[in-house]
Amino acid sequence: MMIGVMALQGGFAKHCETLSKLGTNWCEVRAKEDLKKIDGLIIPGGESTTMLKLLKDEGMFEPLKEFTSSHPTFGTCAGLILMAKRVENPSQDSLGLLDITAGRNAYGRQVDSFNQLVNIPIFNTEPFELIFIRAPQILETGSNVTVLARCQDKPVLIQQGFWLGATFHPELTNDTRIHQLFLSIVNQRRSVAA
Ligand code: GLN
Repeated sequence: MMIGVMALQGGFAKHCETLSKLGTNWCEVRAKEDLKKIDGLIIPGGESTTMLKLLKDEGMFEPLKEFTSSHPTFGTCAGLILMAKRVENPSQDSLGLLDITAGRNAYGRQVDSFNQLVNIPIFNTEPFELIFIRAPQILETGSNVTVLARCQDKPVLIQQGFWLGATFHPELTNDTRIHQLFLSIVNQRRSVAA
């Protein structure tokens, strides 16, 4: 199994560290050719507008749309914004995957970033520390979206088939449970495809 981490912009290095900690093979994705060698993709946090611009400038936007439409993809923060079908504040283009409306910078500015301990029912063990940095909010979810965790009454971790999205930054904690969840989705998908 090979996991790609989109490395055009933003906080990709910490995702790579988490994957190394889990003993997973990973590679950075910087060009469309890189998509050919991976089974699943992580799109990190950063600045979604900048990522979109770089993807389009590099001719990667369409190939990425095609890849992600048929492969497990995990977006954190700006990555979730890129995966959302609908984006507000302001509206912008996206990969059109997750049936959600994402409101950008919904908690305010950088100074309004915060951490919160939240119970994630599927883990059924100790709470997860959620780190929000200029985070988006999930304003609407379609009926095909499963909400895995909520914080302050808003969905913050969601799954739709083999797509996973978090409005926070699991890669900035030492807790690997959400990455493990994504790896199990990739594994499942590989056995279905085999
Ligand atoms: N505010 C950023 C955006 O709209 C996302 C912030 C993040 O990824 N930490 O793209």
